[in-house]
Amino acid sequence: MSEPIILVHGGAWAIPDDACQAHQQGVEMAADAGWHALAKGASSLQAVEEAVAVLEDNDTFDSGRGAFLNRDGRVQLDALIMDGATLKAGGVGCVERLRNPVRAARVVLEKSPHIYFVAEGAERFASEHGIPLIDNSELVLPREVERWKNAAEQRYLSVPAEFAGGLAELEADDQSPQFDSHDTVGAVALDAKGNIAAATSTGGTLNKAPGRVGDSSLIGCGCYADNESAAASTTGWGEPMMKLVFAKWAADRVSPDMPPELVAPASIEYLHRRLNGHGGIILLDRRGRIGMAHNTPRMAWAWRNNAQHKSGVRYPG
Ligand code: ASP
Repeated sequence: MSEPIILVHGGAWAIPDDACQAHQQGVEMAADAGWHALAKGASSLQAVEEAVAVLEDNDTFDSGRGAFLNRDGRVQLDALIMDGATLKAGGVGCVERLRNPVRAARVVLEKSPHIYFVAEGAERFASEHGIPLIDNSELVLPREVERWKNAAEQRYLSVPAEFAGGLAELEADDQSPQFDSHDTVGAVALDAKGNIAAATSTGGTLNKAPGRVGDSSLIGCGCYADNESAAASTTGWGEPMMKLVFAKWAADRVSPDMPPELVAPASIEYLHRRLNGHGGIILLDRRGRIGMAHNTPRMAWAWRNNAQHKSGVRYPG
């Protein structure tokens, strides 16, 4: 028997002072939801689904309703869920009519011989398995329409001083994202049977090209879980993370001698050194050891087990 635990994140970026409370409350609520599932004996897979669904339902984050708009002014969502016990995974990409992409991803994991569905095919698969389709406008917030209009007007928004040094390189790379656009959500959990799982859900980057898929929902890039190594969920600039297959890179480095607590900062250091990437990661192994790191000014996180619950908007605090 293992001591269950859940760890969640709500994006790594320069979360403004006036948004910190909403972020912290949001990740706490998600950790609570995941914890309640675990406490009732649910699997880690169920717990990460429940936690991420709570974050998708929360307008604060770049997932589900309230996500960033793409260049067409539409919400286009990606999500992945993975079971560390079986290595089964389910993913959906570029979906526009699902309120909770993580639940569709779970259905893909459970009911399909395939792993990943995109766009209308993903929506059709979800609908055929009882998930209602909604109109894209139900996912669009006036706040995001405003943000999207501003983004279209100016190439970079409020670059935090911490990043001023990296701006030259970013300007040289036309594909680089806005700095204030990393509000992806994710969760990793360990259940009483000793199995770990991970899930990640996102609206991607602000003003992204329609059809663009980032790291978040790609196996091993923004999400990974293997009982033999670790469960990982990431957030941040997706393209460097994809090139490094970042979540799996990090998970594979966890071992009895290398706890997540050491691997997480080493991973972020690698991401930055190798590709000047930025973002954050949460990691958990079967022993219930957790790790977190980010090289952005802030990252919203929360974890909960039987004895304690902790949260913050920077790690370490
Ligand atoms: N990693 C996500 C993406 O590139 C963005 C984020 O984490 O906010 O789609």
